[in-house]
Amino acid sequence: MNTPVLFTINAGSSSIKFAIYEVAAHLQELARGQISAIGGHSHLTVHLRGALDTHQEIDTPDHSSALDAILAACAPLLEGHIIAGVGHRVVHGGTAYTTPVVITDQVLDALAQYQPLAPLHQPHNLAGIRAARHAFPDAVQVACFDTAFHRGHPWVNDTFALPREYYNRGVRRYGFHGLSYEYLSGALKREAPELHAGRVIIAHLGNGASMCAVKNGISVGSTMGFSALDGLPMGTRCGQIDPGVLLYLIQEEGMDAEALSDLLFKQSGLKGLSGISNDLRVLEASAEPAAKQAIDYFVFRIRRELGAMTPVLGGLDGLVFSGGIGENSARIRREVCAGLDWLGISLDQDANNNNARDIGTGAVRVMVIPTDEERVIARATREALEGHAPSGKQ
Ligand code: ADP
Repeated sequence: MNTPVLFTINAGSSSIKFAIYEVAAHLQELARGQISAIGGHSHLTVHLRGALDTHQEIDTPDHSSALDAILAACAPLLEGHIIAGVGHRVVHGGTAYTTPVVITDQVLDALAQYQPLAPLHQPHNLAGIRAARHAFPDAVQVACFDTAFHRGHPWVNDTFALPREYYNRGVRRYGFHGLSYEYLSGALKREAPELHAGRVIIAHLGNGASMCAVKNGISVGSTMGFSALDGLPMGTRCGQIDPGVLLYLIQEEGMDAEALSDLLFKQSGLKGLSGISNDLRVLEASAEPAAKQAIDYFVFRIRRELGAMTPVLGGLDGLVFSGGIGENSARIRREVCAGLDWLGISLDQDANNNNARDIGTGAVRVMVIPTDEERVIARATREALEGHAPSGKQ
């Protein structure tokens, strides 16, 4: 008998992250992995449940061939199973998509219209969808949006002080990393319901980094705005910047949109500041003063946003660290929380050094919770399979 499984696909510019789940009462993860350097000599890593990781070097000219490589690597696992659903991470759902949606030709066309809003991500997300529709024509395909969790923002947090017509044309603060925040908010609901019902700041600190102010489970503010550039400095992205700098670079240094985009998205952040690496582990291990300065700036911006978000929430009950850095770097957590006893934030240093779940000792509960965006996508896909087809459009 063919038992149903579902796939999650998170397609980036040159990588696809994936996971496979059995659609049992509880979604049981069978495998997860990723293929990187699509478009050339790619590296595929697959972690099958109960087995050692496997690694393969393989040439993949495009997303479609990368997906074929993933399927080939997972073929033994998929024997006796049928792929009933495929859930996709889609970075931008605009103002229309506030919940996951079953993908049809019309939905795909609508999502393509958001490409100018997220030119470095959306086209690759859609390439992943097209490849999956080709590979699994009979499966239900579901789009899950990084912007959706933030769509309830109060107007003041949703707008820029530009003439009103720009807001009406979609120039708004969308906020991103919503799938991660949804997972973390759900985790709080299960294991710390008093926090879920309270005022929490979640810091998703990875190669991409942002913070979200969550009140009663609802996002009321995000450090990311119109694009995934705003807010915190990231691995290679600049974070908050005075728009006057952009005018200067255009008018005085003759930069065009392409050069600016490359500068802001790919050459800045930890990489640009340190001149060494975008990888925090490398910077933490470095004795170079520039590495320390890059880390200092990262911490400084996180603390500024923490200070800015607290009054937006009307006080603070919890602080959650997540993402590759938030989950693993005791140093970043220690430096972010240093000297904040007046705010109710103080750390148990042993718990912090051990990446324990609860690391605070003050009035504000401080937690480290690993995120799992794939599981959020898998849940939405299962709901669609069960016939609770998300309506998507509002
Ligand atoms: P992405 O946004 O690409 O999903 P991740 O959430 O995987 O990124 O986070 C990647 C970041 O996490 C990198 O800067 C990496 O150096 C950092 N990181 C991972 N493990 C550790 C660790 N043990 N100590 C410090 N930083 C870490």
